Amino acid sequence: MIRPSGFRGAAFGEASEGDLRIDADRRRLVSADLGIPPEWAFVSQVHGTTVVRATTPGGKGEADAIFTTRHALPIAVATADCVPVVLEGTGFAAVIHAGWRGASSGVFQETVATLARAGLTAQRAAIGPSIGPCCYEVGDDVAERFADHVATTTWGTTSIDIAGYLESIMNPLPVWRSERCTYTDAGLNSYRQNRTRLRQVAVAWLPPV
Ligand SMILES: [Zn+2]
Repeated sequence: MIRPSGFRGAAFGEASEGDLRIDADRRRLVSADLGIPPEWAFVSQVHGTTVVRATTPGGKGEADAIFTTRHALPIAVATADCVPVVLEGTGFAAVIHAGWRGASSGVFQETVATLARAGLTAQRAAIGPSIGPCCYEVGDDVAERFADHVATTTWGTTSIDIAGYLESIMNPLPVWRSERCTYTDAGLNSYRQNRTRLRQVAVAWLPPV
């Protein structure tokens, strides 16, 4: 697991851990390492902007962001190119799954607004590994949604920097950002690379009291 420094309860998974959504044995091992319970809350991700509040482990329906105010309740999203985000603030943790659809639809802004309605404010954000602008080739229809974050792949075609876009809209929040690219990094699952069904998780939690 990748542990962003300065975070209370945040970890980004790697391919070597297996798919922790479905592999309960591996999840138990990873949870023991992290000092958290092995039963996590997940959502069925649909590239939308729905935010759910988790008070128990298990599936929380179709959504792309989860927050909790429960201590020792791990919440997780799973990705293989899309951008995983952890938000921390006093009394809560949140995780977000943001591909280009979710990012351009405002999943981050919707999460912040949902937290605000619950009286919660993010104090720091961590952006986990995702497909980088080096490799995230897109058509003009997608690129034009991210005008200030259009880049070029290493093979010379149009790409976008989704993590860079997210970091820019998080301003002035302090942001930790992984620079690893899922597409080129063999230690990370990449759907674009090989159409894998496997995902790495981003898990967040409030420490046990
Ligand atoms: Zn790359």
